[in-house]
Amino acid sequence: MNTTAGSDGRSAGGGAGAESLASQLKAKAYGVGFDLAGIATLGPADTASHFDEWLGHGYAGTMEYMERHTELRRDSRLPQPGMRSALVVGLNYGGTQPTGPIARYARGDDYHRLMWDRLESLGTWLTTQAGGSSRAFVDTGPVLERDLARQAGLGWFGKNTLLINPGLGSFFFIGALFTDLELQPDAPFEEDRCGTCRKCLDACPTNALVAPRALDSTQCVSYLTIELRDAIPETLRPKIGDLLYGCDICQDVCPWNISFARELAEPAFAPRAALDTKDARSLARELLAMDEETYRATFRNSAMKRAKLGGLKRNAAVVLGNVGDARDTALLSEALTDAAPLVPEHAAWAIAQIAARTPNR
Ligand code: SF4
Ligand code: SF4
Repeated sequence: MNTTAGSDGRSAGGGAGAESLASQLKAKAYGVGFDLAGIATLGPADTASHFDEWLGHGYAGTMEYMERHTELRRDSRLPQPGMRSALVVGLNYGGTQPTGPIARYARGDDYHRLMWDRLESLGTWLTTQAGGSSRAFVDTGPVLERDLARQAGLGWFGKNTLLINPGLGSFFFIGALFTDLELQPDAPFEEDRCGTCRKCLDACPTNALVAPRALDSTQCVSYLTIELRDAIPETLRPKIGDLLYGCDICQDVCPWNISFARELAEPAFAPRAALDTKDARSLARELLAMDEETYRATFRNSAMKRAKLGGLKRNAAVVLGNVGDARDTALLSEALTDAAPLVPEHAAWAIAQIAARTPNR
């Protein structure tokens, strides 16, 4: 670990001063509600070549934003010139909640603003203490945050591609506060604690984990139900089962989550009443019949707005095609004239699926 600031750079006092400021900053991070906090020195990203290969395989699908600013992702000093260190934080979103048709992370309020505000408050404190400037990142820039989190000692890359912390599992969000101060870094997490386990690869319903730590997003239910703006490929629709938005399967089966996932502590992430305790079929029916005004009221500040109402209806049709029955045909028939472009075709597919498994048609 190098605690010496460069001659042209800002230092947080160097040596013991930098170390104590880093410790204080991490304590402040825990104080504002984060569950994990570590410090990384900015520099070349360990996983940059892996990320480039992943893009080269076409595994990002239609997520074109992933292909923008790839050169900036290769080195974490580049997105904001002058920055030297990062506080990297994790925020638990409640891995012990029951599994269900909506991925746990998306059941409550969107996490971006909440984390960003907290990181900014830490940046203000840091400036007051030691000067310098800072900038918060929560999926808001070309930064490989998971890479930085490993650098900051927060965990290792599981074979399901997620960062796993030995005391928390993987059900947490990651954010970072970059600073132009040089802070004492934590030791990177070097171990691979997956060992011979491959439960996540074996449990994936679509075989989207094509190899350990290699995710083909175009096959992943999370991508198909959240990021994809087009029709869901017909061959994949049956494999989506009753998942309406996102997928937690490769996290649910992970022994580290089974042992160490924590209760939800952040009230903002508590499931909204409109989602809580509803089974997939009931929720799919509600979404398919939902008008724009109800959608806006129900999903204000929700992570689920990313799919937009048309995307949620598309997903709902697929779920009804998989788990619905003849009682859902009338509702699906109404959706054949839905104004959202993808909904009629997915509703027609669902009607055919239900008809194919309904006896004595
Ligand atoms: S999120 Fe679901 S579909 Fe995607 S890799 Fe994990 S188990 Fe497979
Ligand atoms: S399920 Fe097993 S292989 Fe997959 S991330 Fe967890 S420990 Fe690693």
